[in-house]
Amino acid sequence: MGWASASYIFDPVAQALIDSGATDELKTRVLADLIRTLKDGDWDTEHESLDQFAGDAAIVEAFRQHGVVIQCDADTDDSSCELETGHAGDHRDWQGKTWRQEDNPVREHAEVLQPHDVRLPGTRQWQVHCPRCAEPSIDRGTINEDGTLSQGGDHEAVTVHPDRDNYDGPIETRGGYVEVALYCGAGHAFQLIVANHKGAEYVAVVS
Ligand SMILES: [Zn+2]
Ligand SMILES: [Zn+2]
Repeated sequence: MGWASASYIFDPVAQALIDSGATDELKTRVLADLIRTLKDGDWDTEHESLDQFAGDAAIVEAFRQHGVVIQCDADTDDSSCELETGHAGDHRDWQGKTWRQEDNPVREHAEVLQPHDVRLPGTRQWQVHCPRCAEPSIDRGTINEDGTLSQGGDHEAVTVHPDRDNYDGPIETRGGYVEVALYCGAGHAFQLIVANHKGAEYVAVVS
């Protein structure tokens, strides 16, 4: 028998740390200790608690230190991959069966561009997630054809393309556009595009 009620111990402690403004370092240290103790007691709903705090990188790290990760969940036959989402290399299920990672299909709109409430007056903000693995942690830079990373700063990663009245943009728009080169921790390269086309303005994530 598992110990589902351990989530009633973990969740309020995690929430209290967040509410009190604890640093990431403190959250990871305190919660990793708690997770170890609860797992020793046969906690079996730890993935539910992880899901609940999946947006907090320090808490995700505390779980990761004890082998509890947000799973990839790519399917094959009758099982699914239990490695961490965004992992490199082959998929692997709980029995150790591996299969090739095909090019990840592009994620749905709502996963790629997520509303981000900053509570600034007159502002609507979205956070860009990796369009291939939905990883929220991304950086500016270009992954070259040989796999190396060029991280020359914003002056290399951000390009303003003037309006040439030509269909030369990556989303086949006619006007000028801004292109931001991005990559995620799993090594997926993609671009954020802001472009104008015949009196309409578009935001796109291209991979
Ligand atoms: Zn996988
Ligand atoms: Zn990715």
